[in-house]
Amino acid sequence: MQRRQEAEKFERPDIFRPPSERESYFLPLTSGCSNNTCTFCGLYGTKLRLREVRDVKKEIDALSMYVRQGVRLPDIENIVYAVAQRWDGRRVFLQDGDAVVYPFPKLAEALQYLNEKFTNLERVGSYATPQDLLRRSVDELRKLRELKLSIFYTGVESGDDEVLKKIGKGVSSSQMIEAGRKAKEAGITLSLTVILGLGGVEGSRKHVLETARVLSAIDPEYAGALTLTLIPGTPLWQECEQGTFHPISPFESLEELKGIIENSSFTNCFLSSMHASNYLSIRGTLPQDKERMLKELGRVLSKRDSSLLRPEFLRGL
Ligand code: SF4
Repeated sequence: MQRRQEAEKFERPDIFRPPSERESYFLPLTSGCSNNTCTFCGLYGTKLRLREVRDVKKEIDALSMYVRQGVRLPDIENIVYAVAQRWDGRRVFLQDGDAVVYPFPKLAEALQYLNEKFTNLERVGSYATPQDLLRRSVDELRKLRELKLSIFYTGVESGDDEVLKKIGKGVSSSQMIEAGRKAKEAGITLSLTVILGLGGVEGSRKHVLETARVLSAIDPEYAGALTLTLIPGTPLWQECEQGTFHPISPFESLEELKGIIENSSFTNCFLSSMHASNYLSIRGTLPQDKERMLKELGRVLSKRDSSLLRPEFLRGL
């Protein structure tokens, strides 16, 4: 029994966060991801672990004591203070791969406590899988919104059902749309990511058109493009090694981005390819910046000059 308890001990996950959360405090509720089947992802096969809510509150207490009185407690990990030192007290990001899977009453309890200790908190953010959103009622999501959990980062990856099935995403495009609309109905801001190149060479055009369709149907406030980066050891990397998955070229990834922008229609969406995995960074608000963004992409595509692209060694996950 003792051994089993030790084996189940919660280990603080490494910090893996959206670029826009760089100034947040990183509070772990879980480690791993509940949908650990995505064949391209570094969390593939990881085991989801839930942290005890009393330990979450203990960290919030320690953070509060440190921020207010500069007191460090001996049994609190150094990382808490390292992150707290450069924290402005405004935003918190809940770790890990999908903290929204944390049981609803405990999630509400942790958020309530956080709000009580930090009354000036502006917002809390979290990764959320479409499955997490489908599992919650709109009223539950509204409750989270009231507790300042007001932005979800959700990986759409592709709008193509064939690609979604192949990569083990665990939802169809229509479920993806339903999940996104639910979050919006609850008033939660959505930041969606799609992955250029996920359909490979053969599935490229369909991936583009279907991804544009799903993004348009959800109509999020933010959309970010990432470029597929094969992670050694993942099933998709193995497929590539075996020659059954054919990755697209850097310029083809720009063609895909151009195609997504051309074929999508938004009310007011900040779309960017600023993520370090991309070969070219562009950004703008759609629809008003559509022509400018397409021109920027068109210029680089017409030159086909590799020196205009982010070099491979500077690309990151
Ligand atoms: S749902 Fe997201 S974090 Fe989880 S395995 Fe898939 S891509 Fe990775």
